[in-house]
Amino acid sequence: MGNFSALGGAEFDAAIIGGGIIGCGVARDLALRGLSVALIEKGDFGGATTAGSTRLIHGGLRYLEMLDFALVRMDLREREILLRNAPHLVKPLEFRIPFVGHSWFFQQKMRAGLCLYDLLSYDKSVPNHRFVSAAETMRDEPSLAREGCTGSASYYDAQVCLPERLALENVIDAERHGAIVRNYAEVVGVARSSGRIRALRARDVDSGEEAEVRAKVFVNATGPWFDRVSERMGAVQSRRIRTTKGIHLACAPMIQKANVLFSPVDGRLFFAIPLLGTTWISTTDTDFRDDPGGVRAGDGDIEYLLRSVEPFFPDVRRLALYSTSAGVRALVKRDGSESSVSRLHKVEQTEPGVVSILGGKITGYRAIAEDASDAVCKVLGVSANCSTAVLPLPGTGNAETLYGSRWSGVKALMEEYGSIGAEAVFAAREEYCSHLDDYMFRRAAHAFSPDFGASVAAEALRGLSRELGWDEARRAAEWGRVAAAAEKASVKSYPGIVPSL
Ligand SMILES: Cc1cc2nc3c(=O)[nH]c(=O)nc-3n(C[C@H](O)[C@H](O)[C@H](O)COP(=O)(O)OP(=O)(O)OC[C@H]3O[C@@H](n4cnc5c(N)ncnc54)[C@H](O)[C@@H]3O)c2cc1C
Repeated sequence: MGNFSALGGAEFDAAIIGGGIIGCGVARDLALRGLSVALIEKGDFGGATTAGSTRLIHGGLRYLEMLDFALVRMDLREREILLRNAPHLVKPLEFRIPFVGHSWFFQQKMRAGLCLYDLLSYDKSVPNHRFVSAAETMRDEPSLAREGCTGSASYYDAQVCLPERLALENVIDAERHGAIVRNYAEVVGVARSSGRIRALRARDVDSGEEAEVRAKVFVNATGPWFDRVSERMGAVQSRRIRTTKGIHLACAPMIQKANVLFSPVDGRLFFAIPLLGTTWISTTDTDFRDDPGGVRAGDGDIEYLLRSVEPFFPDVRRLALYSTSAGVRALVKRDGSESSVSRLHKVEQTEPGVVSILGGKITGYRAIAEDASDAVCKVLGVSANCSTAVLPLPGTGNAETLYGSRWSGVKALMEEYGSIGAEAVFAAREEYCSHLDDYMFRRAAHAFSPDFGASVAAEALRGLSRELGWDEARRAAEWGRVAAAAEKASVKSYPGIVPSL
């Protein structure tokens, strides 16, 4: 934590632009290797694509169909590492593929795919796939359409309910190992000498203060902003990524299992999953060329998902829609339909002293960070091994809460601040939280509640105001940020009046 000017001190070995899951993973990996590291994120850690994801830790059955075996194997290996190293955040999840009016051929194809999935995850701790009778399928999932249901296939993957906290724990560990980390710090330009980048110009988004961040190597880990940031860094190159939008619907709870479904609209695979007390419907995949910061679910996206779910869960339109979320995938640029483009990442030195990360998934973030960190060490001529595959994240030790073993820190504050106030104050002291929405939506999961957290926001605001010394104007501004986020997520009913303290 500490002040912004710490970025402007001595030259770092590496300066990382972008604090999504991948940039946070690189910061941790390099710090653990003993390098001096700066991590610069223009919004909140994990607040962009990482927060806009489906929140699965999975090899991805769909990628088997695309014959992307290398991607699937890497992600199944990483799934196992995450189940071991972050059990408070990443949990096994049983999926069902219901057969509703599907042909014999379709069922055989699923059988072959699941056998291969089991083979590629030979080192897994979760059960193998199995086939489930129609009676058991209907018993386990009562709201599934009965007509034409001949049973289902069951297999396991994993879920990370709050990937924002997975990113955060990487940042916490990076800082513990000496990294200087800053959220709300935007890279706005670079300083060059002899044609080579020597420093980044970073601006504190809240105060406008600027710092020159000198480093030997720079890492572009800005996900869907990659081409925009490359341009800002003065790189002369054609577009390297293809950006596609995906949205989610968080509806009232209806389903019991994670369901893999195939859209009758266009045949695409999509999900209806239980997540944090909601039915979470995911996702679309359409080209999106605007600034990723402005992405949101449109009426057409919502209608597509509802039309896709309806034949399987006929009551879906009667469910209350709590909120929507959206994200922009960054895929290594290739032609073809959006869904056919590989999710496999690429790490390359795009100019001397600049390591670029293109594409990737949350599931493989640690391996991607390892590749990028190896590339940084190569440029620096340093020999240091990666240890993130075996070192647990800071909260490991108590899988009961999303805070893991760090929960004791929250508990110690409860008597003084109440339970929500304690979490908010802990977030401000220990978790780089400087805005009300940081706590509401990324340190905690209030965005998933039916009222988008309105019932607890006053207590959180009270705790943060006390801790951070906010006056009335600042409290109103903070309330406004949360209301704007609720509006963007299509929840119109957020209270307009700032609660008095
Ligand atoms: C709809 C959807 C569903 C998905 N579902 C899954 C899933 O279920 N499982 C899975 O494994 N993967 C999933 N993914 C993929 C996954 O979300 C991404 O691969 C991952 O989050 C990318 O992380 P990142 O760090 O590269 O990008 P981001 O999380 O976007 O981080 C990049 C960061 O760079 C910052 N930045 C940009 N410009 C600057 C600047 N000038 N200065 C400083 N910082 C800057 C941004 O603010 C941002 O926080 C999904 C993606 C989408 C869109």
